[in-house]
Amino acid sequence: MFEYAPAPESRSVVDLKPSYGLFVDGDFVDPADGGTFKTVNPSSEEVLAEVAEAGAQDVDRAVRAARQAYERVWGPMPGRDRAKYLFRIARIIQERSRELAVLESLDNGKPIRESRDVDLPLVAAHFFYYAGWADKLEHAGFGANPRPLGVAAQVIPWNFPLLMLAWKIAPALAAGNTVVLKPAETTPLTALLFAEICQQADLPAGVVNIVTGAGDTGRVLVEHPGVDKVAFTGSTEVGRAIARAVAGTRKKLTLELGGKAANIVFDDAPVDQAVEGIVTGIFFNQGHVCCAGSRLLIQENVADRVLESLKRRMARLRVGDPLDKNTDIGAINSAAQLARIRELSDAGSAEGAERWSPPCELPERGFWFAPTIFTGVTQAHRIAREEIFGPVLSVLTFRTPAEAVEKANNTPYGLSAGIWTDKGSRILWMADRLRAGVVWANTFNKFDPTSPFGGYKESGYGREGGRHGLEGYLNV
Ligand code: NAD
Repeated sequence: MFEYAPAPESRSVVDLKPSYGLFVDGDFVDPADGGTFKTVNPSSEEVLAEVAEAGAQDVDRAVRAARQAYERVWGPMPGRDRAKYLFRIARIIQERSRELAVLESLDNGKPIRESRDVDLPLVAAHFFYYAGWADKLEHAGFGANPRPLGVAAQVIPWNFPLLMLAWKIAPALAAGNTVVLKPAETTPLTALLFAEICQQADLPAGVVNIVTGAGDTGRVLVEHPGVDKVAFTGSTEVGRAIARAVAGTRKKLTLELGGKAANIVFDDAPVDQAVEGIVTGIFFNQGHVCCAGSRLLIQENVADRVLESLKRRMARLRVGDPLDKNTDIGAINSAAQLARIRELSDAGSAEGAERWSPPCELPERGFWFAPTIFTGVTQAHRIAREEIFGPVLSVLTFRTPAEAVEKANNTPYGLSAGIWTDKGSRILWMADRLRAGVVWANTFNKFDPTSPFGGYKESGYGREGGRHGLEGYLNV
């Protein structure tokens, strides 16, 4: 049997500091009350650094800095000059992409292959794309003279730390807003390296501010009266709390929340390609993907064939060291997330679904979960209804296209869906009926900065990416 030799990416490209301050008004500063927290490497539980925890005074200071920068520098600056800063940031991200990718894998646990080949190229592409819009806003379809909103408060999750930062900061800055961004508490490090990149690009002080901390810091930020716009990506539960907090204020709100996407395989789909798409759909980024294809719907007459092929493919997935270039599945981001995945998987077994994982050896230290599928799942099972946000796939079957549509739409979410079939007409028929923001056909988890992304129903409202992504940051 062929064995892979270890192919570790070097950690030495990253210059980790023992501690990090908050990035406010162009400088790194200590938090007013001196609070800190630790961020760990989820693949080893090793402490990577100590990070400042922003309290109310710190958030206030950051919002004031953003306001001043908005009024004095960034708001009045011509779009063509804002564009130059965004292009410069995009170029520096490309130049430092190896360093950023290694840091992302260290702090998040995702395989280096993904941070290097997916996250980082998309991060740079987002800045390039929105740099192009900065001097063309009057042609974006939002009137002759679209105005920025002011100060944007942005709160992001841990699954794509730098990519979610790019989705938030690039359009906000292109449209002429300034920002205060709070990264997730388990993955603050690439946002802090991004702050250094802002310094390197000579971005005027206060245009980008980064406040680190947990949910309380996020709550204080979105509730701050000096904020004009709130952009949140995270769980539906926290999204609801934010919508309540913002209701009745003048703040504009966009929410990108959870998902429970159906990946639908018809009997005329090429099986090998569909299996690759199923694997990408649920095991990419350990399944920590809001638009993951976490419900597999297979047409009944090919279910056995597809499942057999899927299991064979899963047995070849390599789980382990995120910094090894051959790794397919890295570490689960935190102990808390691992506990949630375990709880829901146990519920799947307890409710009668059949659980299967390939034999795979998991490292002793760190947070790990083997790729898992459940068959015999019904729509009533918790694992078919709730977002697991891990490498766990629930398999259901259907007989007719109409039944597939009904099952796919039977969810409170509506972020994405996938269709695998040979027939173009069937793709269009299905796409018309699926209540999902993105529908992929014969592919899955494909992203592009020119394409809007966002949800229906409890997956949130507003769109990020593309021309549509500017709307949330303009007074239209
Ligand atoms: P989460 O909602 O717990 O946390 C997200 C962020 O919100 C973190 O930075 C957290 O510190 C902060 N936060 C927590 N409580 C807050 C409060 N009361 N006020 C303000 N901020 C608060 O979500 P998570 O566990 O970090 O991320 C996973 C979730 O994110 C999943 O449900 C996933 O589907 C969703 N997600 C959605 C998208 C999308 O584009 N729709 C993308 C990525 C992740």
